[in-house]
Amino acid sequence: MSSPPAPTEHILKGIGVAPGIGRGHVHLIDRRRRQHPKYRVDVDGIPDELRRIEGAWSDARDALAALQEKAGEHSSIVEAHLLMLADPMLVEGARRQIVDDHKCAEWAIRATVQEIRARFDALGDAYFRERRSDVDFVGDRLLDALGVGVVADDDVDNDAIVVAHDLSPGDAIALSRRGVRAFVTEVGGATSHTAILARALEIPAVIACKSVLERAGRGEPCIVDGERGEVVLSPSPDVIARFDAEEQRRAVRIEALRREVFLPAATPDGVRVALYVNVEIAEEVTPAIARGAEGVGLYRSEFLFLNRTTLPTAVEHERVCSAILQDLAGRPATLRTFDLGSDKMSAAMRAPREQNPALGLRGVRLGLARPQALRAQLRGMAAALSVHRNGQILVPMVGNVDEVRAVRAILHEELDQLAAEGVDVWREIKVGVMIELPSAVFIADHLAEEADFFSVGTNDLIQYMLAIDRGNEHVAHLYEPLHPAVLRALQIVVDAGHRHGIPVGLCGEMAADPHLAPICLGLGFDSLSMPTASLRDVKHALRSTSHADAVALVKACAGSRTAAAATALLNEALAARGLA
Ligand code: PEP
Ligand code: MG
Repeated sequence: MSSPPAPTEHILKGIGVAPGIGRGHVHLIDRRRRQHPKYRVDVDGIPDELRRIEGAWSDARDALAALQEKAGEHSSIVEAHLLMLADPMLVEGARRQIVDDHKCAEWAIRATVQEIRARFDALGDAYFRERRSDVDFVGDRLLDALGVGVVADDDVDNDAIVVAHDLSPGDAIALSRRGVRAFVTEVGGATSHTAILARALEIPAVIACKSVLERAGRGEPCIVDGERGEVVLSPSPDVIARFDAEEQRRAVRIEALRREVFLPAATPDGVRVALYVNVEIAEEVTPAIARGAEGVGLYRSEFLFLNRTTLPTAVEHERVCSAILQDLAGRPATLRTFDLGSDKMSAAMRAPREQNPALGLRGVRLGLARPQALRAQLRGMAAALSVHRNGQILVPMVGNVDEVRAVRAILHEELDQLAAEGVDVWREIKVGVMIELPSAVFIADHLAEEADFFSVGTNDLIQYMLAIDRGNEHVAHLYEPLHPAVLRALQIVVDAGHRHGIPVGLCGEMAADPHLAPICLGLGFDSLSMPTASLRDVKHALRSTSHADAVALVKACAGSRTAAAATALLNEALAARGLA
């Protein structure tokens, strides 16, 4: 008897966002297996939950209407879903669960869906039994629209290649704890927070890999190349051999650069740039130091708020910040106040639903709108810094001078309070401003008078300057750090900071690309902060580039008319130094 034919190999392309080669078996994430928040709200929280239901309802209706347009001859199925959505049984039922029982919006929807299913079952009629799946489908659309569900990860094997339509930052954290080998998603952008997290966790990841869910079979062998953006399903022996050779080549390169790990990032003409690491959790610090990080340039404290339904207390903030400061053993840390909102939603924050969250209550705006949450964090940070004294505080998404003053005022009140409680407080804590809005660029000289340092967040600055949603694969190709407008903005910020005598660092993903290291050097950044995995290559690039050449290169690139022309100039310079 002949053996069954070998499954056909499929090679799919996406955008590689976290380097490394992952090998394992496909684990499909089914959206229905998401775990949604389940908590009770207090009386004051009821109006917010009702507003969230309203918002989810209109988003789900828009999504279904868009689906109906595409559904052609099957549009009557979607029509049935739209009718189900409009049925007062569903939305009124969910509202009642919130008002009478204080359930959060997600819990209210799930409970109502279950009630309706039970009623259909009780009717015992085949027609109504069929309708149960419609109720489930519509309920899932409402839950999707609410947005903050986390995938259930209990049956994920540790050789899983996770394949999903989309993953939230919270999903990525939960799945990384199961030891997954790679992430592949159909949507997303290179500077989305899920992509950033995959890099930080050193899990190879490919995003914007169209139709991967349709092609990939559950349990199918798979190889993911997170550098080239390649996903191979059922790889043939030839392809496996190609990846073996590639892995060996990368290992040789890593070995060759190992001797530079503890050498300074200094150019041949003697200019020194500090190289720091971006961390999302305290456990990242020690391995980063072992790979040559000189400190933490960005602690994204908002990750402490994800996958939970209660806010962290001041004591919890203090504990985490102390762990980071202690692990650094005197090296510096920049602790950012929480940058929640947009693609990092926390159920604990109970933020309102917004039409356009990237332009809404994010970062310091949310902090000032929820002063208790910000106050608890600043108190925790101030307490930790008062003991260790090797860090500073950074404020995200600043758009005006008042926001900086307001944060400083809360910090000083908390320092006074700690002093009144007998703590030996450190009053010299520096407060820095993230430059990531175009408005901040143009008032950089005013902000420099209010701030002790600047840290430029190019992920957001590029998003807002070029009007490209950082999580949207349709505009991912327009993400251009070499756009002349971006280069000019960066030069304005560095010059303004230096004129006022404050250091200017860069902590966006631009700092992590070794090809862009000559540009960051030429712009004059004092420090670059990046995921651990990038330290080695960025340091090598800086040690191979003279500062004088880099300055001339930046001038030429900023004077180019297009990003393509600037890229051509940069490629020429890289080739001349053997860095291409
Ligand atoms: C940035 O915007 O570049 C940045 C570093 O902050 P985040 O990616 O967390 O928004
Ligand atoms: Mg940002």
